[in-house]
This record gives sequence, structure tokens and C-alpha cells, in this order.
Amino acid sequence: MTFDINNLVRENVKKLKPYSSARDEFKDFDKEMVFLDANENPFNNGVNRYPDPQQRSLKDVLAQQKQIKTSQVLLGNGSDEVLDLIFRAFCEPKKDNIITLPPTYGMYKVLAETNDIENREVLLTEDFEPNVEAIIKEADSNSKLLFICSPNNPTGNIFNIKKVAQLLQNFSGIVVIDEAYIDFSEAPSWVSKLSEYPNLIITQTLSKAYGMAGIRLGICYASEEIISVINKIKPPYNVNELTQKRALDRVLDVESVKNEINSILSERSVLYKALLEVNFVDNIYPSDSNFVLAKVDNADLRYQQLLEKGVVIRNRSSQPLCENTLRFTIGTPSENKQLIEVLKEL
Ligand SMILES: *Cc1c(COP(=O)(O)O)cnc(C)c1O
Repeated sequence: MTFDINNLVRENVKKLKPYSSARDEFKDFDKEMVFLDANENPFNNGVNRYPDPQQRSLKDVLAQQKQIKTSQVLLGNGSDEVLDLIFRAFCEPKKDNIITLPPTYGMYKVLAETNDIENREVLLTEDFEPNVEAIIKEADSNSKLLFICSPNNPTGNIFNIKKVAQLLQNFSGIVVIDEAYIDFSEAPSWVSKLSEYPNLIITQTLSKAYGMAGIRLGICYASEEIISVINKIKPPYNVNELTQKRALDRVLDVESVKNEINSILSERSVLYKALLEVNFVDNIYPSDSNFVLAKVDNADLRYQQLLEKGVVIRNRSSQPLCENTLRFTIGTPSENKQLIEVLKEL
């Protein structure tokens, strides 16, 4: 299938001339200059200047770590902003549609509704894999985006590589692979396949494995062509100075991040084994993420009982294929121990 991005970008976005901020027009940040161009307060307090709208230092490090070009990276105020920008770049309200694969992350649907885009849902199969044939059948020439969450929230599993590749080859719009949990999986990221698939966007986040949900930093990896389209509509200062600084420190601290991930993974197997012993647990699903989904006898009851003992988990029963399921995020070793003690008491 030949890929032409011009068939996918919204007409208004194609025509649009991006806002040029003061900091965009003058790029030589490192020189000793007198900055009188942006109506800032001149007295230094660490954040009196506008942040770099292109977040170059942070993107350079991420690009180097992923072995791609800096021009293939776009950052946002959490991946939720990145996802919203993708909608606004490619989907024409009341005309285009997207395809999502429930049970999955709720934000795709909310963003579709916010942007007035039809959301076509194609359920995962019983083993929580994409139904490739049904997805391709559901798509038409207005299907601009296909959202693949892998590892998937709330089921926890990573999708079969061949199935995702088939979708990349046969879906005529853009395939967005949400890899919020990829660092908890042994499977490789799709970032290494960017050069093979011109219609691929990968989103990642510092909110999960990197332990930085509070700073709001979402990442988008794609071809230079796709990134330059999304860059046109990105608010200039969408990633604030404090976030850029904290994120840079964190992504450079590879060792600490790795240690925390390893701790979470070993706690995940502790919890998994403990759940096997709990008499009201009927099924525990395999996880490639920092949470475990389990089917229980009565999810509402067990959720309430845990709450009364001071442990808050997520009841996912309202999701299709997830009747009577509970989702347990992996906590610290002592939080995990507390959870397991409470489970045993019930
Ligand atoms: C938690 C999560 C995110 C993270 O979103 P942020 O806005 O970056 O915090 C993205 N996608 C999925 C599937 C998630 O579960």
C-alpha cells in the first residue's frame, strides 16, 4: 500500500501557518544575549523565561536513546495531549472516524467525543488479541486512526507481533501504538520499526515506568513527515520548564529507572503467585505491565471489602470482556505485602 500523508492530514492543517513565538524566532539559546523579545520579567528566579518550545535538550537525549532522529520526536503535556494533537491533525469532525479495540484505555473514546469524531469499536478476541480481519473490514476511506494499546490497559498483555504487523500493512490510515507500559515488557518497542512503516505513530510517557506522572510528559515517535505535521498545531510552550528539567534528569538516570522497573517486575510475580492462592480469584491474566488483571467471584463486593481495609484498586467490570475483573497496580514491596495480607484475610 502506498502511503501519502497528504491524503490523511486535515485541509485546515495543511493550509495553516504555525504561530511563531519569540523563542522560535531566536534559537541561539546558549549565547550570552540580552533577551528583550518576549515581554518576560527580566529578574531571574529560574522560571522567568519561557521554556524552549522545541524542548531540544530532552528530545536529543530521547532520540539518542531510541536511535532515531530528534526530528522524529514530539513532546506533550502527558500522552493525553499528544493523543489529542494527533486527533486534531488528522481527523475532520463529523466526517472522519477512528477505530479502537475495547477493552482498552478510555481516553481514545473521550478524545473522539471531544473532537466530534466517530469511534468504531472492534472488540478484542477472547484471548485479548486484536481481531485483524474484523478491524480491516470495519475500516473505510475515512478511517484515519487505529489505536492499538500494547501492552493493553486494562488487560495487561502485549499484542501478538504478527497481528500488529498485519494491521500496519493493511490499515490505510495511521496506526497509533500506545506503549505507555512498554518498559515493563520483554518485547521490543515498535520504535525500532519506524523506518519500515510510514503510517506508524508510537506514544510513550514518563507517567508509568519512569515514575513521573506528576510532571506530565508524553512522547510521540513517528516519521519526520508526521512529526512536522503535528508540530504545526502544537501549542508553543506546551511542556513547561520545570517538566523539561525534571524529565531530562530522569531519562539520564538510566540505572535508577531500571532498578525501580526490576523491583516492580519482581513484585508483580509475588502478587501473581499470591493471587493464585486466593479462593475468590477465578483467573489471573498474564501481564506485560505494572498491573495485574484478575477475574473474581464478585468484583463489586471484593472491591468494597478491599476499600474498607484501606486498599484502593480498580474495578474494571464495566469494560466489555472484563466482567467481574479487578485491576491491581503493583506498589512498593511493603504496599504489596499489605495488599496480600488483606487478600488472605478476606
Ligand atoms: C497511563 C496511561 C497513559 C499515560 O497518559 P499520560 O497522559 O502520559 O499520563 C497513556 N496510555 C495508557 C494506555 C495509559 O494507561
